Amino acid sequence: MNIQPTASHFIDGKYVEDTAGDAIPVIYPATGEVIATVYSATPAIIDQALASAKRAQKEWASWTATDRGRVLRRAADIMRDRNHDLSVLETYDTGKPYQETSVADATSGADALEYFGGLAASITGEHIQLGEDFVYTRREPLGVCVGIGAWNYPTQIASWKAAPALACGNAMVFKPSETTPLCALKVAEILLEAGAPAGVFNVIQGYGMVGASLVTDPRVAKVSLTGSVPTGRKVYAAAAAGIRNVTMELGGKSPIVIFDDADLENAVSGAILGNFYSSGQVCSNGTRVFVQKGIKDAFLARMAERLKGVKMGDPQDPDVNFGPMVSENQRNIVASYIEKGLTEGARLIAGGNVIKGDGFYIEPTVFADVTDDMAIAREEIFGPVLSVLDFDTEEEALARANDTEFGLAAGVFTADLTRAHRMVAGFEAGTCYINTYNLAPVEAPFGGSKQSGVGRENSKAAIEHYSQIKGVYVAMGDVEAPF
Ligand code: NDP
Repeated sequence: MNIQPTASHFIDGKYVEDTAGDAIPVIYPATGEVIATVYSATPAIIDQALASAKRAQKEWASWTATDRGRVLRRAADIMRDRNHDLSVLETYDTGKPYQETSVADATSGADALEYFGGLAASITGEHIQLGEDFVYTRREPLGVCVGIGAWNYPTQIASWKAAPALACGNAMVFKPSETTPLCALKVAEILLEAGAPAGVFNVIQGYGMVGASLVTDPRVAKVSLTGSVPTGRKVYAAAAAGIRNVTMELGGKSPIVIFDDADLENAVSGAILGNFYSSGQVCSNGTRVFVQKGIKDAFLARMAERLKGVKMGDPQDPDVNFGPMVSENQRNIVASYIEKGLTEGARLIAGGNVIKGDGFYIEPTVFADVTDDMAIAREEIFGPVLSVLDFDTEEEALARANDTEFGLAAGVFTADLTRAHRMVAGFEAGTCYINTYNLAPVEAPFGGSKQSGVGRENSKAAIEHYSQIKGVYVAMGDVEAPF
């Protein structure tokens, strides 16, 4: 596979290069090798992308929604047909194992394109009768939307933003994380091939400053960011200055609460999915695992047993189920948190070691006897570090689960039906799970409350965030005026 893209940016239906921008090395996390180079967008490239989106949006919005939807559904088919190559590329870009990328990235992107493609023609206004007079509403696109992505799911993030935006008749300029610049270019290629007019979906590369200049451009109507809370604050504030719409998908420190009566095997599986998938680099991870005291020893023993099934290695090998961290920097952040956990007195049950070598591997790590005040229980680590906290009662577990600035996700494992729903009603989180964890089908809304974000991706809810309503009053009689 040729990893080096044709050029750094995809604008107005074509690959575009401008080597005047800073060179961004693309590093394969499994080996530390530079596998490609792209260049950060210069002001001229940023302007070109926005001008192209602005022009293309008008044409795209004039199409019938059925025609727009057909393009998205065609793009979904192409994406599925190319799943193998896209998954290999996703693995080079992120280091996530092919075993994951082949079922969770292009497939999820294709689901989003298919779902919103199918929904497009049903995005309508309404009619409100007022005696003889009436009001009708038009559901209109916002205009040019900017998407800014994190590095953990580059294909999925680009598709999750592009699909609802385009279904509603918007155009988009997307900036991937500079750590994973390759995959979004493929999404752009596929949309063009499926029939989207040139300029409807553009990709430009760059560090945070490129994102920042997109956010403040007067041509931009909406910003959708997937990133950390500190970046979210900056982007939200910059967008607010121009009264722009936003969707903020930010970080988390989500709880999984496991009661004594839970199915042990499922609870352990849920905690594995919620901590070690993608080497722990998932925003909705349930990194605070509250385990009721009666099941704690059995839980820890079974978790240690199941961790023997971890197979680390070359992530392109389909048998490997645990890959490296995305970057050396991220690996070092995770290692420093493991160090903090040990210093603060948490009990190491498994893992804890950085793997020597050129790749950015670190062992899946489990701490027990973690207390609410420890840094590993309060701060987002974004790596494979699972913290087990003990609890006695339901009330206590709920209060402690909610005692965080974040509110992205929460899960509960129990055999007691009413308790499960009581817990979910009490969770201060946007995305909740009962007896499972971390599934994100396109049909379900995904997003956070509190500091974890604003707005929702996926599901019909996303339409609200990529369209606006125009109310039109129609008078059937004469106009009454006071003089
Ligand atoms: P960052 O917040 O560092 O970056 C996110 C994106 O924003 C990157 O493309 C970054 O560019 C860009 N950016 C940085 N500064 C600015 C700025 N001032 N203006 C505009 N854009 C800017 O996140 P990471 O890439 O490190 O991703 C990890 C984080 O993302 C975690 O906190 C995780 O929880 C969160 N996340 C949330 C998800 C959700 O749906 N809620 C899903 C996945 C991840 P550059 O990288 O070039 O600096």
